[in-house]
Amino acid sequence: HSKPLAGRVAVITGASSGIGESTAEHLAGLGATVVVLARRADRLRELVARIEKDGGRALALAVDVTDAAAVQAAADRVDAELGGADLLFNNAGVMLPAPVEERATGQWQQQIDLNIGGLMNVIGSFTPQLVTAAAERGVADLINTSSIAAQNIFPNFAVYSGTKAYVTHLSRHLRAELGPKNVRVSALEPGIVGTELQGHVTDEGARQWLDGARQTMEWLTPDDVAQAIGFIATQPPRVNFQQVTIMPTAQT
Ligand code: NDP
Repeated sequence: HSKPLAGRVAVITGASSGIGESTAEHLAGLGATVVVLARRADRLRELVARIEKDGGRALALAVDVTDAAAVQAAADRVDAELGGADLLFNNAGVMLPAPVEERATGQWQQQIDLNIGGLMNVIGSFTPQLVTAAAERGVADLINTSSIAAQNIFPNFAVYSGTKAYVTHLSRHLRAELGPKNVRVSALEPGIVGTELQGHVTDEGARQWLDGARQTMEWLTPDDVAQAIGFIATQPPRVNFQQVTIMPTAQT
């Protein structure tokens, strides 16, 4: 089948750049109608225009996922206008490594509010649509973006890694809850991908660590990760990748 995701409605958070943006383009190319969520409306508009130019269908919703009411309003719109989502790529996140002794409490809170709180707002508002779609069509997908930081140990990444360990463990529990309802839950754990993520890092030591890593290995591209998401979502309904780690070959 040339369009394996035809008829499906995919909601993608963090779609205005990086992994989410590439995944939106890839899933649209596979035939899904994509709903792209992030805060930057201008970036989403350009993305939708690009997808439509390539013959795809897309809807932009400018939403801050830490705002539970705004997320619920977005979910209501997806339900009303597109009949609900059957694929959720819950991907918005921020990484702000720093030594714990710096007590960057604002950045701790920012990571917890988005990577955990925002992720949960999206799960809360869209899971009913996934369950309904799975009951009607036999399958739906909930893919949460975690990180290799959920597994490996990196100095100065304690808070970020903690939020991602939450995402991986939450995903395993949700899989036990929703798998029997035909919702496939996956945790995606990428190693380093070149995106805007690194640009938000303010701690000088962490910036130097990242610059060093950029010089010693070839990082993944957002499209590499998008291809993996496409692979996960196009499996037969009985096949669920529970946890997918995708690493730059040279990253240890
Ligand atoms: P980017 O910074 O390029 O993308 C982050 C996306 O999240 C943007 O679209 C941003 O859009 C959106 N976002 C940020 N805050 C909010 C908010 N409050 N509400 C809604 N959307 C928001 O980074 P990546 O593509 O790399 O990151 C995507 C995910 O991948 C993250 O969860 C990250 O932790 C994870 N990851 C990334 C890795 C990497 O090396 N790049 C490795 C492992 C995991 P906007 O500002 O317009 O709201």
